[in-house]
Amino acid sequence: MVVMSKERALIEVRLAGLSQGAYEFDFACSAGDFGDTALTEAGFSKDISVKVVVDRTDNEMSVTLTTVAKADLSCDLCLAPITMELHGSYRIYYSYEQAAEQNEDRDEEEYRLIDSNALSIDLTEDARETLLLSVPMKVTCTDNPDCQVFIQEGQNESDGDATPPDSSWQESLEKLKNKYR
Ligand SMILES: [Zn+2]
Repeated sequence: MVVMSKERALIEVRLAGLSQGAYEFDFACSAGDFGDTALTEAGFSKDISVKVVVDRTDNEMSVTLTTVAKADLSCDLCLAPITMELHGSYRIYYSYEQAAEQNEDRDEEEYRLIDSNALSIDLTEDARETLLLSVPMKVTCTDNPDCQVFIQEGQNESDGDATPPDSSWQESLEKLKNKYR
């Protein structure tokens, strides 16, 4: 394992000197900076922007990550390539109190302990996960007419009450389709 103690983490917030209150940090990086093939396989290849809002109180600190990135995806129905702007967000609560750890019901994903004297927090892994979670489960075309035809055909087949083609142009379209089938 390579120890990179001198090198700054990709998404890192310096806590030293931050008093109580809300602070906003903006990061601009590219998908390749994360060095993770899962991101590129998910479609991220270009610029990624990460906004981090740190809100410190006496004994707790909330960290909200917001990611915006373009991803190259493909339509689930027609496989046409689609580039989408994906928005992700994730919130983590950091507690300075040791007592918080005793509560087993707390979600480990969102509640973490932190040394009140910690100089910085590395949010690279959290940003990476937020990006992956921002990828939609279903992707379909929004403005591809070929894909819309495909959707309508599928609906008519499953719907028994579907109205048959009544206009002449629709009939000729059907004939034309059969001709090339
Ligand atoms: Zn499509």
